[in-house]
Amino acid sequence: IQSKLPGVSTTIFSVMSKLAAEHNAINLSQGFPDYACDPKLVELVNKAMQDGFNQYAPMPGSTFLKETIAGKVEKLYNIKYNPETEITVTAGGTQAIFTALAAIINAGDEVIIFEPAYDSYAPTIKLLGGLVKTYELAPPSYTIDWDMVKKLFTAKTRMIILNTPQNPTGSILSSDDMKSLIKLITGTDILILSDEVYEHLIYDEQKHQSVMLYPELKQRSFIVASFGKLLHATGWKLGYCLAPEKLTKEFRKVHQFNVFSVNSPMQQAIADYIKEPKNYIEIGSFFQQKRDYFRGLLAESRFKLLPCNGSYFQCASYSNISDEKDTDFSIRLIKEFGVATIPVSAFYQKATDHKIIRFCFAKENATLALAAEKLKNI
Ligand code: PMP
Ligand code: GLN
Repeated sequence: IQSKLPGVSTTIFSVMSKLAAEHNAINLSQGFPDYACDPKLVELVNKAMQDGFNQYAPMPGSTFLKETIAGKVEKLYNIKYNPETEITVTAGGTQAIFTALAAIINAGDEVIIFEPAYDSYAPTIKLLGGLVKTYELAPPSYTIDWDMVKKLFTAKTRMIILNTPQNPTGSILSSDDMKSLIKLITGTDILILSDEVYEHLIYDEQKHQSVMLYPELKQRSFIVASFGKLLHATGWKLGYCLAPEKLTKEFRKVHQFNVFSVNSPMQQAIADYIKEPKNYIEIGSFFQQKRDYFRGLLAESRFKLLPCNGSYFQCASYSNISDEKDTDFSIRLIKEFGVATIPVSAFYQKATDHKIIRFCFAKENATLALAAEKLKNI
């Protein structure tokens, strides 16, 4: 058959986690915690099932959960989203990204992405017949020169995908970035897909710059969030999309025929859990401690650490250690040293090798210490 995605193979996250398991390596590759989520949350799922939440949830999401999300968003950002018309519960961030793109992108439309980028963006755009226009971010700071972004604009530019805090680089957008973006898009009908799944994982007292804080951006944005990150439960695959009514309408047209609705008892449990801000408010400092702990451990190694302002990823250059390609180096790390990571070239479409790998530090301190012991010997 003629592939709709020639050149796309199995996602790097599956590849590296599988290799890690086969070689019994410490898995700092795919981004997920190696510790349990709060047992209270599991009890709440049990309770929801016992209470009879075992049939289809409403198509756009449980009313209780959508209202709770609206309350959380208002408390954190002082911005109102209408649960009826502007919030949709999804099967994780990935489905929200897919659905927003599917609702908007026509064949020939151009979408601007910033690479290195989360690996679902480009294939999804291509599947829809869209064209990916890439802005390449440069290590170590991965900042954006917005005048250069403007050069990518054409009459076909339909959407820009933002991701702050960013996977894999751990960089974040500043309020100056947002102001520059506003200048660029005012007067155009370009839409924004803002992937904010790491909104809480932001460090050193910095403030998350959600597009919702800027009316000119909010009115044209789909914002994607993930409960996997918020609740240390990536396997639950639940998240949501915030968007103004006219965009949500289009989003739901696709959502209803893609999944219709998502896991009912878990929606109930999550709503019960996050109505108490104390259940998630500490997550930023929790991961900041992990970041600092891991960076401290790796300071004794030959890896050069890049900045990490957000997310649960730490990038590091191994150019002091080897000039192998990053894919070869990361496979050798698994086989010879027992530590799995992600080669950052996997986040680019064109061959790009800056000799940088990504570690996930959403792990027990003992796991991080064990990994660092091995990494120090390289
Ligand atoms: N966006 C980014 C930047 C991510 O790192 C992830 C990772 N999981 C997702 C979206 C998808 O989130 P989910 O697991 O909720 O689908
Ligand atoms: N977001 C996670 C990462 O970047 C994993 C996502 C996935 O496995 N699809 O590692």
